[in-house]
Amino acid sequence: MPLVIAMDGPSGSGKSSASKGVARALGLRYLDTGAMYRAVTWWLLENGVPVEDAAAVEARAGEPAIASGTDPDAPTITVDGTDVSAPIRTRAVTNAVSAVSSVPAVRARMVALQREIIGSGGIVVEGRDIGTVVAPDAPVKVYLTASEEIRAARRAKDLAADPGASVTVTQAEQARRDRLDSTRKASPLTRAGDAYEIDSTELSLAEVIEAVVRLAKEHE
Ligand code: C5P
Repeated sequence: MPLVIAMDGPSGSGKSSASKGVARALGLRYLDTGAMYRAVTWWLLENGVPVEDAAAVEARAGEPAIASGTDPDAPTITVDGTDVSAPIRTRAVTNAVSAVSSVPAVRARMVALQREIIGSGGIVVEGRDIGTVVAPDAPVKVYLTASEEIRAARRAKDLAADPGASVTVTQAEQARRDRLDSTRKASPLTRAGDAYEIDSTELSLAEVIEAVVRLAKEHE
């Protein structure tokens, strides 16, 4: 079976950097599924759809055309042909995305798109439900964690340009998002029974990449 590496875990666990690094090291494609949920959320906010209203979200979420480029050196995300890689990272989108991603119709559409992109494999896919729902047969599944403090500090660094994003605020917002993502009814964030757990709290990025590459080689 061609290689699919599923990388799941909570926000700020270092999934994106690790996933891109693994894809580069092994010559694989890379898919950021969180960016897809963020893109739908961005479009809904742009169009004035109340994101806490699941029926309203369901009614409109099929409209935007979401496309993801899978080069780990230059991943892209577009909505109706427009590059949204910057606006999907704002706090407004970050704080609204969990409500949108909890709507089953949104998930069904995203999962179908993700499976299409995964195709016959050769890809590292990061998200929350990759090993459990999107690609349950993936030969390599990783569940990446890190302490809450480290995760918030990493996120705050990502948001350094945003004046409201102190570590304390980020930590509270992140805890809320993780709680929503882990407790929603539709495919919540949870470790797949057969996923290999890596706690990155005390590991460098290079060490995390090396650990996943090693796992992937064992499966060759
Ligand atoms: O990974 P990132 O933080 O960009 O993900 C943004 C949000 O998208 C998550 O908080 C979650 O609500 C949603 N998501 C999801 N399933 C995935 C990936 C992301 O529900 N596979």
